[in-house]
Amino acid sequence: MDKGEKARKFLEMSDYDLAHELLTRDLLYYKIPPEQVEHYVNTALTIGSDMARACPSKDIYKLCADNGIAIEEMSTKGKYFGVRMRAEIHIRDEETKIRLYKQSIEDIARSLREFFPEGQRLSYDAINKMHLAHEFFHYIEERDNVKVNEMLPQVVTFSFLGYHRRATILTLSEVAAHSFSKELLKLPHYPYLYDKLYALSL
Ligand SMILES: [Zn+2]
Repeated sequence: MDKGEKARKFLEMSDYDLAHELLTRDLLYYKIPPEQVEHYVNTALTIGSDMARACPSKDIYKLCADNGIAIEEMSTKGKYFGVRMRAEIHIRDEETKIRLYKQSIEDIARSLREFFPEGQRLSYDAINKMHLAHEFFHYIEERDNVKVNEMLPQVVTFSFLGYHRRATILTLSEVAAHSFSKELLKLPHYPYLYDKLYALSL
């Protein structure tokens, strides 16, 4: 399959399909009982979009300002243990800030030029907002103590003689954050699509 065909396949994926694929990347995905997977994905998607609808403003810059969140544009490329980052949030009592890595965001904007005709692709500013909204969602999770991974049942990671070790699925929080971002900004696609297209452009 060539790049164009792959991109077309990605573009045909529903929000559910994209969110599900993202969830499969969690190391504990295979511990979710198969008949529960759909419930996990749909619940995380719904939490994200419901929280966006409940926001007092749809203007992400205003939401950040009203919550005292500083926005810092970094000119370096974000790297965390060799993994490229586009944005991150630092939540501290003294100051909360969202860092946006300009070059990494430009890379995404550039990759989208390959797959969308002009007028149909997200602008650099829209991609910036998409990342801000994503991080803002993590801020709400922290502020209101509503961690999405804790809102769904834990999975059993180890069993021995009646003893069960359990853990939460952290990627559920990512599934919800993308859903929040899409709903808040009324984006045309579930944001994880852009990650997949970017990976394809490399
Ligand atoms: Zn995230």
